Amino acid sequence: MQIELFCQPCCNRFLAPPETPALEVLKRMMDDGPWFALGEGATFEDMIFTALTSRGAICCPDCLRPVSVSEESLGRVAMDMLAQW
Ligand SMILES: [Zn+2]
Repeated sequence: MQIELFCQPCCNRFLAPPETPALEVLKRMMDDGPWFALGEGATFEDMIFTALTSRGAICCPDCLRPVSVSEESLGRVAMDMLAQW
């Protein structure tokens, strides 16, 4: 399961599992290129949550428009968890 940040006009994309540690997320952004400004947090999911609650959106580093946070995969996470019960 992965959370995806995606800017359609620029095709900027960042994909990582929600439990990825913050340091690793930052390292991967440095290596991969597109740098999405996320909030403070211990994991990728926390960083997205903080960014969304404090700023209302996560913006694309190139066009500064809000990127989409893939709700499909978040939905799948919920489905996976339900399937395990
Ligand atoms: Zn963009």
